[in-house]
Amino acid sequence: TEELLRQSEKLSVVGQLAAGVAHEVRNPLTTLRGFMQLQKQTGKLSPAHLDIMLEELDRINFIVSEFLVLAKPQAIHVQPIDVVDTLQQIVTLLDAEAKLNNVQLKVDKQIETTMVLGESNQLKQVFINLLKNGVEAMMNGGQLTIEVLPSPNDVVIIRFIDEGNGMSEEDLQRLGEPFFTRKSTGNGLGIMVSKQIIANHKGTLTFRSTLGAGTCAEITLPASGRP
Ligand code: ADP
Ligand code: MG
Repeated sequence: TEELLRQSEKLSVVGQLAAGVAHEVRNPLTTLRGFMQLQKQTGKLSPAHLDIMLEELDRINFIVSEFLVLAKPQAIHVQPIDVVDTLQQIVTLLDAEAKLNNVQLKVDKQIETTMVLGESNQLKQVFINLLKNGVEAMMNGGQLTIEVLPSPNDVVIIRFIDEGNGMSEEDLQRLGEPFFTRKSTGNGLGIMVSKQIIANHKGTLTFRSTLGAGTCAEITLPASGRP
């Protein structure tokens, strides 16, 4: 019965998610339909309209991709990955965006071996999600530090520490709920997807936060070479 219970819980999460996805996809579809109708009736679709249409299409594509990660847990192909290398790539990718928000990104490596077992693209997706959340939380700028630490039991710890607005105890509880967002342009899928990916890697993702002071997102991953 425990197994049955677990299965039904899983179903309800996917069902909940599917309903949310349908809702999220319908809004951009409504916009797209409206613009197509405008074109049909007046032939006056402008480049600005087309830009919006492309953005809306990208939005649909993004939501569906995120959904697929959750709804269809694939067997992941793990290989040894240098965490610090991967983090540095992500920092390079997001540095310009961070600077625009007056946020300084810093990787603080306190460990010799930084190889973990994982799927590179999926881990990158997690790092990007957490880094973006940190940057977005720092409306007045500040420093975002990524610590890579050793830990007993052949585990590598990666922390994303920001100086942002933090979260209330209530929001902290809701973190990872599908479509939970406090942002006008957020989709509330980032943490949920990240948790799923890290769980698939036999790791953990936990959060500590103080309202008005900042947040620490902590990942643990099995180190490569662990028996
Ligand atoms: P989104 O970023 O699209 O809102 P997420 O799943 O990434 O979705 O995050 C959900 C919510 O959790 C955010 O809207 C925000 O309220 C809160 N949150 C996540 N990370 C942080 C952080 N580093 N600092 C403050 N709040 C955060
Ligand atoms: Mg996010």
